[in-house]
Amino acid sequence: MPENRIERLCIEKGMKMTEQRRVIARVLSMADDHPDVEEVYRRASEMDPKISIATVYRTVRLFEEAKIVERHDFGDGRSRYEEVTDEHHDHLIDIQSGKVIEFQNQEIEVLQKKIAKKHGMKLVGHRLELFGVPLDPSADNKE
Ligand SMILES: [Zn+2]
Repeated sequence: MPENRIERLCIEKGMKMTEQRRVIARVLSMADDHPDVEEVYRRASEMDPKISIATVYRTVRLFEEAKIVERHDFGDGRSRYEEVTDEHHDHLIDIQSGKVIEFQNQEIEVLQKKIAKKHGMKLVGHRLELFGVPLDPSADNKE
C-alpha cells in the first residue's frame, strides 16, 4: 500500500502507524466527499474486513486531535470528516439531498476580516456552513 498524505502527516507527528490506522488514513485521503464515521468504516472494511467500528472511531478522533482531519457538523447531527488542506474552503449544504458543495468566495473572506477588525480582533479562523434547498426551476427565482 503506497503511503498517502494523511499517513505521512501522522508519521511526521510521531504517531505510531498500525496497519489498521494506515487503512483508515488511506480511506480519508482518498475521500473527495465528507464521510461520517460509519461511511469511513464501510470503506475501510472493504480493504480490511477485520477492522472494527470502534477502531475507526478512535483513529478518526486521533487524526482530528492531531489536526490532520477536520470535523464538520452539517446540521444532521452526524460528524463528518475531511482531510485538512492548505487551501481553505467553505461549505454549502443541500438539506434535501445532503449534497455538500465546496466553495471559496473572496468577498466573504474579506468581509469576515473586516467584521473582526471592527470589533478589535484579528481573524485567525472561521467556519462557514450555508444551508439551502434547490431552487424550483418552475418558480420565478428573483430572490
Ligand atoms: Zn470540505
